[in-house]
Amino acid sequence: MLKIAFDPTYILKLPSNHRFPMLKYELIPQQLVYEGIVSSENFFSANKIEEYWLRKAHDLDYIKKLNTLSLSKSEIRKTGFPLTKELIEREYVITQGTLDCVDYALKYGAAANIAGGTHHSFRDRGEGFCLFNDVATATLYAIEKHLMNSILIIDLDVHQGNGTASILGNVAEAYTFSMHGAKNYPFKKEESDLDIALLDGTNGKEYLKVLQEVLKKLEKQINPELIFYVSGVDILDTDKLGRLKVSREDCKKRDEMVYSFAQIKNAPIVTVMGGGYSEKIYDIVEGHINTFKSMVELI
Ligand SMILES: [Zn+2]
Repeated sequence: MLKIAFDPTYILKLPSNHRFPMLKYELIPQQLVYEGIVSSENFFSANKIEEYWLRKAHDLDYIKKLNTLSLSKSEIRKTGFPLTKELIEREYVITQGTLDCVDYALKYGAAANIAGGTHHSFRDRGEGFCLFNDVATATLYAIEKHLMNSILIIDLDVHQGNGTASILGNVAEAYTFSMHGAKNYPFKKEESDLDIALLDGTNGKEYLKVLQEVLKKLEKQINPELIFYVSGVDILDTDKLGRLKVSREDCKKRDEMVYSFAQIKNAPIVTVMGGGYSEKIYDIVEGHINTFKSMVELI
């Protein structure tokens, strides 16, 4: 059974000016059920992550600063969020959601988090709407808890997975692959195991060609026991922040390529959402719904 992490309570606690970008987290589960892609039984709510696991990826000082809401003004500005107790609580829950997804993916082949992909979070700081790095934490969890030796991170959000690359840089069991816009945030990129930086205006045909070549190469090179997929839909041509020109159809093909790859490698896959900043909520929701469609069809 496909297990999907979803926390239905947090959205009501957010300040109203932050509702729109967060609305997708509420709409996507409803739409998934409405379209019959999954049923309400597929959803689960995670508990708060234990500090033990958070500390695998984050410095204690940083965790303490968040817990006590004592980040400096400039540190808060870099996160992009107003720092509130509710927001920190949500971060604890969504990070645990991705850890739970590891266990579910091992059991059922695939699991997903309706949140997560907080890949701009570093060991000692949050940036770009990311406070804790869920994928880095869950990777270190899988290594320790499930004794894994080979974990592949496929980060196809339009922004580079800089925090993930930094946290997992010296972790031999993790292979980080990020394909992103060369000129997109973050302006100072970190070094992943494999980085593909795309030019502004890259269209779907070009995008899919490059991705296929990379996946073919990875197919021979690596035998992952687990895959994380950061499935940001900010590669869409409608996105306000992305600089690429990928249509919704080609974005769906991207997802299909990733799930086919997981199938070929017979590896469990955890999908986390990443970003999406199209003007119309419809484009964002439809983009993410397509990811779930491919997941259900191919896994
Ligand atoms: Zn992004």
